[in-house]
Amino acid sequence: MRYFNLHRHSPAKDLKEIAIINIFPGQEVPGKYLYSVGLHPWHISEDTLERDIVLVEEKGANAVAIGECGLDRICDVPFELQLKALRAQIAIAATLGKPLIIHCVRAYPELISEKKACRGSLPWIVHGFRGNSETASQLLRHGFYLSFGEALMKDCRLGEILASIPEDRYFLETDESTVSISEIYEKAASLRNTDIETIVLRQRETASGLIQDNRGNFKV
Ligand SMILES: [Zn+2]
Repeated sequence: MRYFNLHRHSPAKDLKEIAIINIFPGQEVPGKYLYSVGLHPWHISEDTLERDIVLVEEKGANAVAIGECGLDRICDVPFELQLKALRAQIAIAATLGKPLIIHCVRAYPELISEKKACRGSLPWIVHGFRGNSETASQLLRHGFYLSFGEALMKDCRLGEILASIPEDRYFLETDESTVSISEIYEKAASLRNTDIETIVLRQRETASGLIQDNRGNFKV
């Protein structure tokens, strides 16, 4: 039984876990591990944007997804610059044919507009989802996938969203949390009124459908 973890920042020590390791453009590719590469909205700067986008493109060639990238209304980086960086990464994902892993804080309407504008069919996954049920339904209606992490352990509203989301439209992740992926699976199983094995199986099916290696045949 291997737990698929959509998003974390360092390789898992637990062999029962199969994770996508997030790297930033300047970080080294994590050897044999699956990884995603993206320019995070917090790290965007006018001076280094061009260089960082080139790095995302180069390292993206062997990645399983592009991101985390996205929009964040709370950080100090000008919103227009964030949009520019996001659009550049949407274009890279489209060229490489890879899913996007998205960081979004208080910018869901703008994110949905970007997805509508690009008219692509590649998956967009909102990681660390913490929005309300109305936002969740809107995102699902527009074809997004949602990924839930540590917040699930305490936030009942999020629990209700996870309990009712279609089984092929969500992921689970630890991000930088100290809570383990198996604990998050356990919580998800209890919220969805099923057993962990079922969640493990369905998560792997969903992940296999979206995430492929360069030969197009990756199975989680
Ligand atoms: Zn993260």
